[in-house]
Amino acid sequence: MIAKLIDGKALAAQIKSEVASRAKALAHRGHKPCLSAILIGDNASAASYARSQAKHAEEVGVEYQLTPLPAGTTEAKAIDAIRKLNEDAKVHGIILQLPVPQPLDAFKLQRQISPDKDVEGVAPANLGLLAMGRKALVPCTAAAAFACLRAHMPDLAGRDAVVIGRSVIVGKPLAMLLLSANATVTQCHTRTRDLAEHTRSAEILVVAAGAPSLIGAEHVAPGTIVIDVGTHRVKLIDSDGVERTRTIGDVRFDEVAQVASAITPVPGGVGPVTVAMLLQNTIEACDRQTHG
Ligand code: NAD
Repeated sequence: MIAKLIDGKALAAQIKSEVASRAKALAHRGHKPCLSAILIGDNASAASYARSQAKHAEEVGVEYQLTPLPAGTTEAKAIDAIRKLNEDAKVHGIILQLPVPQPLDAFKLQRQISPDKDVEGVAPANLGLLAMGRKALVPCTAAAAFACLRAHMPDLAGRDAVVIGRSVIVGKPLAMLLLSANATVTQCHTRTRDLAEHTRSAEILVVAAGAPSLIGAEHVAPGTIVIDVGTHRVKLIDSDGVERTRTIGDVRFDEVAQVASAITPVPGGVGPVTVAMLLQNTIEACDRQTHG
């Protein structure tokens, strides 16, 4: 392998340790940082995500509250639950676990979260602030991919960056973060005509397409830094002929690592940093709310 591995686990541990110190300092001032999650219905992956968040929060001294609501919760009841958390001075961050059951509209509910407590950075106000280059709570996955990149290359000014994906929680905020760092940004998506032509011209390639193994060596010029945001649980036949479930990314790691100068692995890249960013946003939100 030629590429340097960008170690998301090590970066996440570093961020979590900084968060733990800040949580301690806040506790000394009489403020216990608190992250509150609303879980509507019985979606197994949403529940498992909430358990994992609770474990990570506990590790850094952030209180984690879970409000479970039944699958048949009406929009009015869900909004009421969010508003109560908005008004609760002891709660500093609010998450709506996704997916929400039909016919609830996640966007309508997320819009109700106070921008000051929107630690997932999904409220329009935070995305607007980010677009304006102002201080904002940034969507955690975009912030995590950006942190992985900056850990390897702190100064991005003038670099040619290509982002694949234009979702509201990953692709778009990532492009905005790169622009704020003075990179020259190209955003590719499903209607891009010749993806490889764009990706081969990149010095930095961030892949957030949600398409398993989309990017191979043919898409990457020698020396490119590759950040893989994709995460997919897939069944693969191993060399011993046994089928196993594995986590893979949007990038064919084995071949791209022979061409790139640096690369994030999946698992162990952007994923662990994402939860660290959620905790960092919570501390930031608590800090701002308690400083008045
Ligand atoms: P999404 O489906 O909302 O958006 C995917 C974007 O990629 C779209 O804008 C689409 O235009 C573009 N796209 C899809 N296929 C493409 C193709 N073949 N060529 C060019 N563009 C293409 O997905 P998302 O929510 O932005 O998530 C992207 C990936 O990141 C997913 O694999 C998801 O599992 C992963 N993810 C990881 C984390 C983490 O913590 N690591 C968190 C959230 C999402």
